[in-house]
Amino acid sequence: MIAEDCLFCRILSGDIPAEIIHESDTAIAFRDINPQAPTHVLIIPRRHIATINDLEPGDEPVIGSLYLAAKQIAAEEGLAEDGYRVVMNCNEGAGQSVFHLHLHLLGGRRLDWPPG
Ligand code: AMP
Repeated sequence: MIAEDCLFCRILSGDIPAEIIHESDTAIAFRDINPQAPTHVLIIPRRHIATINDLEPGDEPVIGSLYLAAKQIAAEEGLAEDGYRVVMNCNEGAGQSVFHLHLHLLGGRRLDWPPG
């Protein structure tokens, strides 16, 4: 399912350009337009799912594919050994601004904990 008013669905359809670095049957990944670290990649499912709250039983393979993509991209970006972070914000209170599920993959600098 594609949502016409969804920014990331429009990236998926090619309406809006992005630097896509990974594609599979279930997910794509592209560089964040406002990077918060030397590597900042967004990994999204092809299917429009707005938030974690909208996940349903049966979505496990989709979510798994996002993490497997993160692992592969982290290795390709040379982050696997030093470390990296994957994070998914849910709803505005946690900083979600685009309502199409996405994992942030961040690395290439020291990442403090807890996040702000
Ligand atoms: P979140 O705040 O967790 O919803 O993350 C949304 C992310 O999408 C932010 O880090 C934005 O910088 C990023 N973003 C917004 N528009 C674009 C775009 N056109 N291309 C790539 N990344 C984008």
